[in-house]
Amino acid sequence: MQYQKTLSGKVSLEGQGIFTGKTIKVEIEPAGIDTGIIFVREDLPEKPEIPLKIENIFGLDGATAITDGTHIIYLVEHLLSALHGLQIDNAIIRVYGEEVPLLDGSAYPWVRQIQEKGYQYLFYPKKKFKIKKVFSYKNGHGTIVFKPSDTLKIKASISFDHPVIGNQEISLEINPNNYIREVCFARTFGFKDILLERIKKGILKGGDLSTAIVLDGEKVLNPEGLRSQDEFVRHKVLDLVGDLFGLGGCLIAEVEATSSHHRLHIEALKSLYASGLVEEIEERALTFLLVSKRKRF
Ligand SMILES: [Zn+2]
Repeated sequence: MQYQKTLSGKVSLEGQGIFTGKTIKVEIEPAGIDTGIIFVREDLPEKPEIPLKIENIFGLDGATAITDGTHIIYLVEHLLSALHGLQIDNAIIRVYGEEVPLLDGSAYPWVRQIQEKGYQYLFYPKKKFKIKKVFSYKNGHGTIVFKPSDTLKIKASISFDHPVIGNQEISLEINPNNYIREVCFARTFGFKDILLERIKKGILKGGDLSTAIVLDGEKVLNPEGLRSQDEFVRHKVLDLVGDLFGLGGCLIAEVEATSSHHRLHIEALKSLYASGLVEEIEERALTFLLVSKRKRF
């Protein structure tokens, strides 16, 4: 049996929001048994709480957001990816603005801070979600297939008509060690023309070569180059790990994603959940035995 996990202490990071241009601080605090992940809009006087659950998460073009219907926090995916990848079950996330800063475009800054702070185990079984049978979701060119499994495995493939990207594919079992070594460092990427257009329209107010990989028609413009040849598809895995946490607990499934994106990830997850094929694993009976045993001593 796996126990629930939280952080050993508070982690704090700040950076520029790409949609607002403002400097935004985020604090992640430890939380007790069965709290789950709760976002708080700490900048608002009423400090509304938005729990991570399937009804509250939604996918946009190029980002994932969380809302309680009134309040919203954009760009939660890389932070959620770090928490899901490190298998953290309970945390309070205080966001001092309406978006999570992009930082270096990967999940590495979150992972490094959380690793430095360390973990504490809460002696209560982990909440996990399993898949009863195969479920496929398709929209446009993208497809996601969920298959029953005993661990979280992700196979992702992307195809871009660009000399640096081309066709990339990767298959990984996601556990904390693999996530730290193979996934968390991969940065998001964008194309110069599209980014300039978004800046012109006022959609983007922040972001530069330190917050993402930027490509022109032929090459990577970042002077430091890529962190790995297939950094693009590894970032796709990073995004999937974050979006799949939208169920509110660790997903145990084999997930195959082809040309997927945030909107598709969340649509597929909501559709899977609505199909009744997701089952929350309960190990409560075993806990009861443990608790009773402990009481006797
Ligand atoms: Zn991303």
